[in-house]
Amino acid sequence: MNEIDHKTLSARACPICGKPVDPAFEPFCSKRCADIDLNRWLSGIYTIPAKDDEDEDGERPAEGEAGENERADR
Ligand SMILES: [Zn+2]
Repeated sequence: MNEIDHKTLSARACPICGKPVDPAFEPFCSKRCADIDLNRWLSGIYTIPAKDDEDEDGERPAEGEAGENERADR
């Protein structure tokens, strides 16, 4: 029983493809999976700030106008 538990705990799986981890590429199974994870991470970081900058410039003036109109109506 204990042997099985030990094996499950020590055997880690690659987060990208689920294959056993290669100590040379921890925590991934190969350089390819490490690159895939890095690309996902980088693209996520580049996408979020770029969108925020555009939205702030475009939305703020429009929101101010809408708020004024609502108040004038009441
Ligand atoms: Zn992998």
